[in-house]
Amino acid sequence: MTEYEPVIGLEVHAHLKTKSKAFCGCPTNFGAEPNTQVCPVCLGMPGVLPVVNKSMVAFAIKVGLALDCTISNTTKFDRKNYFYPDLPKGYQISQYDEPICKAGHITIKNKKIRVHRAHMEEDAGKLVHAGAAGLHGSDYSLVDYNRGGVPLLEIVSEPDITSPEEARLYLTELRNILRYIDVCDGNLEEGSFRCDANVSIRPVGTKELGTRTEIKNLNSFRAVQRAIQYEIERQTTLVESGEKVVQQTRLWNDGDGKTHPMRSKEEAHDYRYFPEPDLVPLVIDKVWIEELVKQMPELPEARRRRYVTELKLAPDDAYVLVESKEMSDFFDRAIKLGASAKEAANWLIGPTQAYLKEQKLGFDELPLTPENVRDLATAVSRGTISNTAAKQVLSELLAKKSDVVALIEKLGLTQVSDEGDLRKVVSEVLAANPSQVAEFHQGRTKVRQFFFGEIMKATKGKANPQVVNKLLDEILATAKI
Ligand code: ADP
Ligand code: MG
Ligand code: ZN
Repeated sequence: MTEYEPVIGLEVHAHLKTKSKAFCGCPTNFGAEPNTQVCPVCLGMPGVLPVVNKSMVAFAIKVGLALDCTISNTTKFDRKNYFYPDLPKGYQISQYDEPICKAGHITIKNKKIRVHRAHMEEDAGKLVHAGAAGLHGSDYSLVDYNRGGVPLLEIVSEPDITSPEEARLYLTELRNILRYIDVCDGNLEEGSFRCDANVSIRPVGTKELGTRTEIKNLNSFRAVQRAIQYEIERQTTLVESGEKVVQQTRLWNDGDGKTHPMRSKEEAHDYRYFPEPDLVPLVIDKVWIEELVKQMPELPEARRRRYVTELKLAPDDAYVLVESKEMSDFFDRAIKLGASAKEAANWLIGPTQAYLKEQKLGFDELPLTPENVRDLATAVSRGTISNTAAKQVLSELLAKKSDVVALIEKLGLTQVSDEGDLRKVVSEVLAANPSQVAEFHQGRTKVRQFFFGEIMKATKGKANPQVVNKLLDEILATAKI
């Protein structure tokens, strides 16, 4: 039987977080009262003229640089015509045949996914469907034009993605890159990072692309993965039963875990693109690009490489750290202050992440400071406190702003490493348990664990385990009871 393989291409719409809209001076803040961030330009009143927002173009170029794209010398805007109540002008200003960025790539776990293009456009408004049982019990829809005219960058991949997992990796990496260069907050729930997935299948080993469907309404990474998986299975079943995949747009429904047809190619829009007559083509100055290159920060891929090659972190740990820019910046600050990379990474990736998940907090909401992590790492590596005690200190630091040294003092956690002090405790424990010592000498070496436990109990867990082990070996070898 013929085996099929999936082919996936992703289109991402990312809100560029400029202060004002793409072609007017209105603010772009999310969550404002409906229709309070509008003006005649973004409402499409007659007689108004758009003005290009320079920051939008700068942000788009930065994305292009980060994705290793060619930045066009000249670029222009086009009108994409369609009629919908959330689009007051009856057209969207977009870019058709001269996008600002072309031919880049994103690397995911050593595989290059090519980026076909990235172009600027304006977002539409938002329809609020009151629905029959909705607002005021009526069946009308409301429209909020605050989002209308907010700048978007549409980033289109080549169909190089071959699994739902790769799609997830591509999206997380892209979102991370946009966050690192600080041009998009990447918030899926607020719609500032949206993804459409194009999926087709083809017999393994063939080159020709199969008929694709485009899936919309994906508002989480999990939804993207599930929808692609569903679509691969649906198409495979169709083809295996001798039917054909119909090229169409499908909507993902998170509730029933299925995609449903939205419109087919026959009904597809003819957008009648033509050059935007109200805006002149842009000539991108080389000097400007060079200035923007200088502003580029270290990108996720470079940072991971630095963590692995210079700081000797495990690749998986580097991945986890870099995935959160906040955590990774914090980690870098702790290292600069003198923390050991391995220790700092462990405390952040392990218990700190677990705490964030459990409390549903963002990293920037923590009272923890890079100094805290440095001090904690140092206290452990010097043997001042045990690993267990360090966990206790950290959980205090995660809950409330504090100081490591003061906490160790307050909680009485200083580890006892002094051989003289510990020798006394070990001898006392052995003397108090003569029958177990006798058993030990008869070959029941397991009781050694019992002694260890008793010593820890006697020192309230503060004894340095290495020193205890050494002393136990020494004293048991000589003790003749
Ligand atoms: P449109 O503008 O109609 O959405 P594009 O040619 O721009 O069409 O393609 C959109 C996306 O679909 C791109 O990410 C591309 O990689 C992907 N794509 C194109 N053909 C296929 C296919 N046969 N299977 C899967 N993905 C595809
Ligand atoms: Mg498309
Ligand atoms: Zn406006």
